[in-house]
Amino acid sequence: MKRATSRSSYAIAVLPGDGIGVEVTAAALQVLHAVAPRIGRRFGTVEHPAGARHYLEHGVALPPATVAACRRADAILFGAMGLPHVRAGDGTEIIPQLDLRFALDLYAGVRPIRSFAGLPGPLADARAAHIDLVLVRESTEGLFHARGRGRIEGSGGDAAAFDTMKITHRGTARVCDFALRLARQRRAQGKPGRVTNVDKANVFRSMAFWRQVFDERAAAFPDVPVEHAYVDAMALNLVLKPWAYDVLVTENMFGDILSDLIAALAGGMGMAPSADIGDEHALFQPAHGTAPDIAGQGIANPTAAMLSAAMMLDWLADRAGDAALADGARAIEAALAAAFASGAARPREFGGRSSTADIVREVLVRL
Ligand code: ATP
Repeated sequence: MKRATSRSSYAIAVLPGDGIGVEVTAAALQVLHAVAPRIGRRFGTVEHPAGARHYLEHGVALPPATVAACRRADAILFGAMGLPHVRAGDGTEIIPQLDLRFALDLYAGVRPIRSFAGLPGPLADARAAHIDLVLVRESTEGLFHARGRGRIEGSGGDAAAFDTMKITHRGTARVCDFALRLARQRRAQGKPGRVTNVDKANVFRSMAFWRQVFDERAAAFPDVPVEHAYVDAMALNLVLKPWAYDVLVTENMFGDILSDLIAALAGGMGMAPSADIGDEHALFQPAHGTAPDIAGQGIANPTAAMLSAAMMLDWLADRAGDAALADGARAIEAALAAAFASGAARPREFGGRSSTADIVREVLVRL
C-alpha cells in the first residue's frame, strides 16, 4: 500500500447509482462534509453517472469516463446500482459494481457489523449487544467467475446449466493475507484478532485447495490464531453465537450470502457498511442494494452509507498516513452511536419512525 505525505484535500469519486443508493449517498455526503472542517480537511466530491437508469437512458451502465474518474480519485463512494426490471441480454441484472470490482481489481470485500446500544437486533441473548465482527469476502473470482460465462448444454428435458467456480492460488493468498493483517490490526485495538476460514473443503476440490492456501498463508502469521469452519455450520453458528467470531474470510459466493445474514444480525441491510479494497483502489458502499420497495419515500436507513464513509476515512488515513482522517471516522461512528443510544434516531428496520432526513439531522447535531 503506497504512502503519501499528509495533505489537506482528498478527491472522492461519488457514484450514487439507482434507487435508495441516491438517497443514502446524499446523506453520507452531508455527514462527510460536516466532519471535514472539524478535522481540518476538505473532500472534493464529484458525482459520476452509472447504474441501471443510466443504462436505460444511454445504453451503457458503467461509462468508461466514470471508470477513469474512479481510477484517478483517492477513493470511491458508491451508493447502490441495479433495478429489477432492467436486464442485460442474458437475463441477468445490470450490476456495474461487479464490473468496477473486476476493473479496479478490488479483491477484498470487507463487511463489518457491530451492535449499537439502543438498537436491539433480532437475537434475544444479552451477548448480542457485543457483536463486532468483519466478514472478508473474496470478490474477484470464486463462483462469481461464472458471471457472463455460464452455459447451457442440451435442450428441453435434457438441458443442463453449468457455472464454474474458479479458485486461484494468487487470488486466495492475497485475500487471506488481507484477513490475517486485519486480524492483527484488530488485536492491536484490543479485539480478539482471530481469523475463521469458512469453506466447504469436505466436498469440493476447489474448496480443499482454498483451505490449503489459507493454511499456507496462516503459517506466515504465527501470531494470529486461526480456525476452520464449513460454511453450513457457519450459517448456524452466526445465528447461535455471532459474538464468538472476529474476522471471517471466505469465497465470493459464500461471502455474498453470509454478508446478508450478518447484516440481519445487526438489525437489517441499512446497518451494514462495506468496502471493496484492492492494492491500488478502494470503493466504499452500503452492503444493501437499491431497495426498490422503499425507494423514493425518504425512509431508507442511511447508517450503512455513513459507516461506509467512515470506513473510507480509515482507509485513506492508513494510506495517506493522515491520522486526522481516522479522527473523522471515529466522530461519525460516535455521532451515530449517540443518536441511537439516546433514542433520538430509530430506523424503521427497528420499528422506529425516523426518516432518512431525521437520522441525518440527529447525526449532524452530534457532530
Ligand atoms: P441486491 O440484489 O442488490 O442485494 P435486493 O433488492 O436483493 O438487492 P436490497 O436492495 O438490499 O436487496 O433490499 C433487501 C431488503 O432490505 C428490502 O426489503 C429493502 O427494503 C431493505 N433495505 C435495504 N437497504 C435498506 C436501507 N438502507 N434501509 C431500510 N431498508 C433497507
